[in-house]
Amino acid sequence: MIFSKKKYDYEESAKKLSVLFANNFPSNEFHRNLLKFLCETTDSVGAALVLKEKETFTVRHCLGWESFSFRMEECVGMIQWLKKNKGTITRLQLLEESRWAPIKKMGLNFFIQFQAEACLPLFVGEEMLGFVTLSQKREGRPFTAACRQILDWLGPQLAMSLNNSLLWEKIRYQNVELAKVNDLKSQIVANLSHELKTPLTAVIGFAELLAEGVDGELNGEQKKHITQVLDGSNRLLKILTALVDLAKLEAGNFPLNIQQFHLAPLVTSLSDELPLNRDTALQIEIDSDTPRIYGDLGLVRQIFRHLLDNAAKYTPGGSVKVSASKKGEVLEICVADTGIGIGPEKMPRIFDDFYQADGGITRRFEGSGLGLTLSKKWVELHGGRLWAKSQLGKGSQFYFTLPLKPIVIKHRELAA
Ligand code: ADP
Repeated sequence: MIFSKKKYDYEESAKKLSVLFANNFPSNEFHRNLLKFLCETTDSVGAALVLKEKETFTVRHCLGWESFSFRMEECVGMIQWLKKNKGTITRLQLLEESRWAPIKKMGLNFFIQFQAEACLPLFVGEEMLGFVTLSQKREGRPFTAACRQILDWLGPQLAMSLNNSLLWEKIRYQNVELAKVNDLKSQIVANLSHELKTPLTAVIGFAELLAEGVDGELNGEQKKHITQVLDGSNRLLKILTALVDLAKLEAGNFPLNIQQFHLAPLVTSLSDELPLNRDTALQIEIDSDTPRIYGDLGLVRQIFRHLLDNAAKYTPGGSVKVSASKKGEVLEICVADTGIGIGPEKMPRIFDDFYQADGGITRRFEGSGLGLTLSKKWVELHGGRLWAKSQLGKGSQFYFTLPLKPIVIKHRELAA
């Protein structure tokens, strides 16, 4: 039979390739399209995509025949050789060209296993991702040098996009796994914290009774020790409560009890409990005509308490100022201090869970690194925003907004 030599249209192939790459197919569909494209380009009746997985090679997709398995141990030599040669090889070359004589036997064995006429190895840089085998052409046409040439031209481009699709698949899988681990972590933290809180509350209760002298008058040493027990237990309780709150927020289980209230009395009531340094002054600059805000009173109290506690903690001497101003439909509140400030390299992380700018075992300040995380999430539950500005050695300003109209609080039921 005499066949006219087929001319390959590189421009047309490039166009088809760009369509193939433009679509972010899930990998199965991408593999099928890739094989279909190669079969159409070379006129082959079937193809198989074999990819490296861990230390072995597996058939990932077949076109034109059922998926099959092959004896890997019989292909090792040929795969080694493909790694060295890097280009397309055909069964005809093995039969007709003397330069392939050294690998003829194992090569033919390889082609028989894959029922293939040609093999295109897929490389990204020096790494071989796998290979595509192509079975016979329609009407038994041979795989010519021109056909090998276009396959070698297509190979690196296909390998690159295949690599992207494999990475995409891997990232998607890892994201699902990470989400599962994160859910499990939240669940464990929530359960454990809850279980720890019950006995701790009992410890605190009994320690308070002892401190009050209910079971008999305590001497000086005993009072000192029971005070230490109480301080430590209360700190622990604060951390456990923060962990439970974080787990509840992550589970999307944090109902708000919204009401309308004035900020000034709330902040004033907190100022009495504020552990300010002797040399630090507190200024509350909230005008009496500042409009009332909508929010969950208990949570807004916690947000203020946390920002004020931080301002007091990180200001050895100077001032802490609370101010508020109306900005459109929200009230913008600022808690500013003239304390130690935060370096610019640490600023992007201060709202991360458990982050402490002054971290490590040598840290000077107590804390859990959860206060800002929780405060930010609580503000956001109210439809607001929390952000910070700071200058190392000069002080920090924490701003947040709360709604002046109930409409801003999304998906939450308003208390009457
Ligand atoms: P912590 O319990 O450690 O205070 P936070 O989540 O409240 O945790 O804050 C995270 C980190 O941000 C703190 O460890 C601290 O380094 C820094 N930070 C927060 N508020 C201030 C502030 N007013 N001045 C200086 N640093 C602050």
